[in-house]
Amino acid sequence: MTPTARSCNVAAGKVLCPRVAVLRSSQLPLRRRDRRWAVDTDWIESYTLDLRRGDGVGVFMRLLGAHVSIAGGVEKAPERGHELICNTIQIFTKSNVQWAAKPLAARQKAGFLSNLDRFGIQMAFAHACYLINLCSADAAIRKRSWRGLATEVERCAFLELPYLVVHPGSHGGQGEQVAIEAIVQGTLWAVEKAARMKAGNLPMLLFETTAGQGNGVGWRLEQLAEILTRLKTLPVGICLDTCHIFAAGYDLRERHAYERTLADFDRCVGLDRIRVFHLNDSLGELDSRRDRHAHIGRGKIGLEGFRLLLNDPRFADRPMVIETPKGRTASLDVANLRRLRRLIAPSSATE
Ligand SMILES: [Zn+2]
Ligand SMILES: [Zn+2]
Repeated sequence: MTPTARSCNVAAGKVLCPRVAVLRSSQLPLRRRDRRWAVDTDWIESYTLDLRRGDGVGVFMRLLGAHVSIAGGVEKAPERGHELICNTIQIFTKSNVQWAAKPLAARQKAGFLSNLDRFGIQMAFAHACYLINLCSADAAIRKRSWRGLATEVERCAFLELPYLVVHPGSHGGQGEQVAIEAIVQGTLWAVEKAARMKAGNLPMLLFETTAGQGNGVGWRLEQLAEILTRLKTLPVGICLDTCHIFAAGYDLRERHAYERTLADFDRCVGLDRIRVFHLNDSLGELDSRRDRHAHIGRGKIGLEGFRLLLNDPRFADRPMVIETPKGRTASLDVANLRRLRRLIAPSSATE
């Protein structure tokens, strides 16, 4: 499907700062029927670019948001994103700490999709449950994980989500090559199983860069490159987590280091394979191999790394979400997002 002209003819609502405004629900720029989130990524790209170029330009310059809870049902998530002034959300589509999940009802899907429009969420995507370990050394857990991934893919298809972020896994002492083989076979198996369920267009699977803690796979670029190459028959890409790559030894703290890291990434994996970013500062030092998220600008990466990323025209249309530590209220997420928005140079809105 080719993109048609969007109804971007919106006036910005309440202006919070010179660069960001909140849309009231009546001013939303989207027509739900026009949206076709699928593995058709060119469409997604033109769609997001289209929004930035339309009359809505300057309202939100970036697809920026947070991971939000689905407590009470997936249909509740868009409003939570709206409260944090997000135009992008990441969700789990099921409990993150249980294997079992009740099937999603058609009523929930309808509520979720209409609330995305109602609350101005331009992009929503999913993160797979943390229990999944596609390359577990325990055969029972490995098989359960493959089945779990199939369920996750099917739920994303049902909810029309374009991306599913998944951790490559932890090899439990078997070694990287055995692990990569299991990740590849498990992904092929899960996607084929999900496709048979015919829930809708399948999401693109995004393997998340990891910190290299313990026996984690996916912290070296070569490992990610091998997984993508082996899965070249499927729509797969990368979710780049700033905390994780920093902890894995890839520096982002100032321009020179940032450019070198991206050049390495481009050579090895390809920058175009990065579809989503997780913006987290790191409690651990560079190359500490510790997966400990810090508030934006309060960790070892610092604000400059985020400024470089947020203003990098190569990623202007890529959704970016925070997964920084949450408190009892939304205030920590709000503060982290505000800190990020303030780093966006006004000129980059029209790049
Ligand atoms: Zn992450
Ligand atoms: Zn992490």
